[in-house]
Amino acid sequence: MSQTTNKKDVIIVGTGIAGSLIAKLLSDHVFDVTKGKMIHRADAGKSDHIKEISILMYEAGLEAGIELDSVSSMTTYNEYIRTFYREEAKVPNSPYPNLKQAPSPNVLDMEHIIQPYPDKKGYLVQFGPMPFASDAIRVGGGTTLHWLGTTPRMLPNDFKLTEKYGITIPKPGSAEQAPVNWPISYEELRPYYEMAEFEIGVSGDVSRQEYPIDEKTEEYYGNYVFPMEEIPQSYMDHKIIEGLKGTSVKLNSGEIPLMMVPSPQGRNSIPNPKYGKTKIIKAEPKDSGYQLVLDSSEKEEYKALGSVWNPYMGERCEGNASCVPICPVQAKYNALKTLKKALYKLNDNENLKRNPYMQIQAQSVVYRLSIDPNDKDKISRVHLRRYASKEKTDFVEESVDTSDAIVILAANAFENPKILLNSKYTVNNVEKTAANSSDQVGRNLMDHMVMLTWGLFPEPVYPYRGPGSTTNISSFRDGNFRGEFSAWISPLDNWGWGWPAFSPGSDVTYFITEENLFGTELRKELINRLSKQVLFHFEIEQLPNPNNRVTINDQYLDVLGIPRPVIHYELTEYEMKAMEQAKDASDQMFERLNIKDFTKYTAEDKNSVIYNGKRYSYNGAGHIVGTHRMGSKAEDSVTNSYCKTWDHPNLYVVGAGNMTTLGTSNPTLTLSAFTIRSVESILADLEIQLKK
Ligand SMILES: Cc1cc2nc3c(=O)[nH]c(=O)nc-3n(C[C@H](O)[C@H](O)[C@H](O)COP(=O)(O)OP(=O)(O)OC[C@H]3O[C@@H](n4cnc5c(N)ncnc54)[C@H](O)[C@@H]3O)c2cc1C
Ligand code: SF4
Repeated sequence: MSQTTNKKDVIIVGTGIAGSLIAKLLSDHVFDVTKGKMIHRADAGKSDHIKEISILMYEAGLEAGIELDSVSSMTTYNEYIRTFYREEAKVPNSPYPNLKQAPSPNVLDMEHIIQPYPDKKGYLVQFGPMPFASDAIRVGGGTTLHWLGTTPRMLPNDFKLTEKYGITIPKPGSAEQAPVNWPISYEELRPYYEMAEFEIGVSGDVSRQEYPIDEKTEEYYGNYVFPMEEIPQSYMDHKIIEGLKGTSVKLNSGEIPLMMVPSPQGRNSIPNPKYGKTKIIKAEPKDSGYQLVLDSSEKEEYKALGSVWNPYMGERCEGNASCVPICPVQAKYNALKTLKKALYKLNDNENLKRNPYMQIQAQSVVYRLSIDPNDKDKISRVHLRRYASKEKTDFVEESVDTSDAIVILAANAFENPKILLNSKYTVNNVEKTAANSSDQVGRNLMDHMVMLTWGLFPEPVYPYRGPGSTTNISSFRDGNFRGEFSAWISPLDNWGWGWPAFSPGSDVTYFITEENLFGTELRKELINRLSKQVLFHFEIEQLPNPNNRVTINDQYLDVLGIPRPVIHYELTEYEMKAMEQAKDASDQMFERLNIKDFTKYTAEDKNSVIYNGKRYSYNGAGHIVGTHRMGSKAEDSVTNSYCKTWDHPNLYVVGAGNMTTLGTSNPTLTLSAFTIRSVESILADLEIQLKK
């Protein structure tokens, strides 16, 4: 086994948005030896009395392009685009390397689960009873390479479902119930949402945001504008809004007025002049520790950040509509943009220079941590298997000494718990698992259930243009009904029937094989059908459920001999009832808009449930959440509100796995906000470490 001797201050596992944000913010700060404090490098001037923070990132994906220099990043990314063009099934993972050595969950691998036998066709070993229907990708930059980029904030009540709606969940191994409130409130997270929106580059119009909440928009957002102006809503959105404006739908819980809202999104539009200058995220010392602030003292105007290889490419969204799985020009944010800011810093001549204190070691799959019970249960080593190439499966066993380092797991909500569960240690002859004194590691796996409804609008609305979704119906995101069934958000999709019915290919097949059409007639019918296709999308909140979990089992290993995630996953009546209510809402909206309903849920659908005698099918949203929840007490959570594990003084675990509940927001903006906040605690720990 080789051991990396070159000691680092910080080890980060994963280069997705969570890992990259931490790398970027830490590398923006240095240790002022004279003051004994961490300071932003903008305030360090030319002082000789500073110490840089040395950072090593491990990445499971391939090395190609990870240095993010112009040539190699453009070559690698263009290879992704070419692969995407060639692939028949244009699913989220289709452009990216499918690695034997670091496999990714893939929706194409999902099968019906016939209990008691698991579905083990893909990377995940799924015991069910329902399949977990979402994927992620293990490449440099992580899953934001194929995210859609929708960035709503969570609502204040999402943070306090127990307090507000009396919701509790079973305590593992006990007859008692546990609360599901977050250890932080929306108010506390609000400044960090602004930082995340700055870093991602969010386009939107605060004044047009409307939610079913007690607070007024001005209270919810404060005196604030998004960095960039709103991405225009599609023509289809306008036609739907025209037909639904001022109306409501009737659910079991009562009448709900419809609010159609332009969605904030992490894709470039026109910088908003009211946002003013560009900003920096800067740590200010407090009596104890640090507070991050969004500092506006920079002189330059805010600019949209283009592709990682050419700042003049991707400065504006071009409406190509392939955001999932890939934005050809990188107008959509991906984490490589943040990673590049960690890897390259401006020198005295204002040129970008490679930061020598940041190292990324790719093709390195972290699989275990060692813990030293004689040193406060600190993480003493990180173990990994480093493979030589895409083709070969032989690997070198490596480990790095972390007894004087801070370790940050940022490998996503499947991989973080997997690494923890694979890290055993013994205290007084009792075997323990890393960070798991609460028995919560791997539990409470959540996703949004995406129930789709689709139909033909009475006139052409011209889908298949613009970003995947530009508007959402926000009416069902909160309300007293949450005591009884899930809240949901309803994006209107600009993708025709692509997702549920494989359009437009399936329409061509249908008209040729079923209607016997060809030539002019075929073209006419295709134009007629495709231009009228509408798709509604109901993202249903799933509650934390300790039985929904990621575990490991020695029987199921990947080619490097590393455990694969073993998944147990079920739905409860709370979510199924919401599907029933959402379909009811869809029926009412379709009727009002004269949409001819083509929605069909069949027994062949892989995720299908029968509720009150009716079938409902759903997809995953890609929102893998909850498996290392944060909390206010060590006995029922894995980390505190700063993502620091309760059990190990030098271990942080970051990402959507920290989310206590899911709410109705796509999770990445929220995970970015609390990941940014965690840097305050990491800087305080680093101060102590560097003073030594
Ligand atoms: C199709 C799709 C659409 C989505 N759309 C949206 C959206 O519109 N809005 C939204 O908010 N969210 C969306 N999401 C979710 C979003 O992509 C994720 O929440 C986010 O990318 C998670 O970031 P992360 O950094 O925690 O994890 P990831 O981005 O998954 O990054 C993890 C990193 O760790 C690396 N890694 C993994 N295992 C190891 C290991 N053992 N050793 C070393 N490195 C490892 C990976 O290669 C990767 O670089 C979508 C997801 C999907 C799948
Ligand atoms: S619509 Fe096109 S240009 Fe715009 S973000 Fe999506 S893929 Fe990129």
